Amino acid sequence: MRPHALVAAGLALLHAGPGAAWLPPVRRLLPSLAGEGDPGHVALTFDDGPDPRSTPLFLDELDRLGCRATFFLLGEMLERHPEIGRDIARAGHEVAVHGWRHGNALVARPGRVAAETGRAARLVAAVTGARPRWYRPPYGVLSAEALLAARWHGLRPVLWTAWGRDWTERATPESVLRTLEPGLRGGATLLLHDCDHTSAPGSWRSALGALAGVVGRCRAAGLRVGPLGAHGVGRPRTARTGGVPGAARPHRPPVPASFYPRPEG
Ligand SMILES: [Zn+2]
Repeated sequence: MRPHALVAAGLALLHAGPGAAWLPPVRRLLPSLAGEGDPGHVALTFDDGPDPRSTPLFLDELDRLGCRATFFLLGEMLERHPEIGRDIARAGHEVAVHGWRHGNALVARPGRVAAETGRAARLVAAVTGARPRWYRPPYGVLSAEALLAARWHGLRPVLWTAWGRDWTERATPESVLRTLEPGLRGGATLLLHDCDHTSAPGSWRSALGALAGVVGRCRAAGLRVGPLGAHGVGRPRTARTGGVPGAARPHRPPVPASFYPRPEG
């Protein structure tokens, strides 16, 4: 291979390599990227909103369950519905960045993902008054540019350990719960959607209908359910989980008490 071809191949790998992070074996090797956290806690996350047709129903249900979550917002949705974004933050949930539009980072023209990530992060902060800490790329597909942009804007990329396949036409609350069930364990990060912006019309009803069951099963197993900010992603593991404290990242600041307005969490 000639030198310029080698360079091109290297650049292609650099660009596409992080996209493989959604593959289960790669996620097992990168647990904090997958959202692996506190073994006594389950992180609940929603993507693709905010949407005035569905997000308020999720806020009501989470309030009824006494549960806080992380909402990965799309810039284009938040620009259209800033009041719903404010409602999310006002209800005590965590707001995070899902990009500006729901595009695949690997097919975006150079510079676009970086510009849009910054634009979305600034809008989330301006609308909600909360500085976002997390970034989840659409489809969970990361490029080198997306990783660099996230880092530049102080966002930590985080994917998920379990999903409910709630975006399909045939999804029901029962199918979502059944799909998530094997993944309902301490340390898990769950992916659901609070709107159908990029899913089958009305599919959000399956996620909404599954919420009580998901939260109930976690609590019955003695697990707390809450946002990523309370999940301890990347925190040193305790002796109980067999981690090596010296090899892990520094502690994050304590979890804000506002994430747990009720004793149950
Ligand atoms: Zn999405």
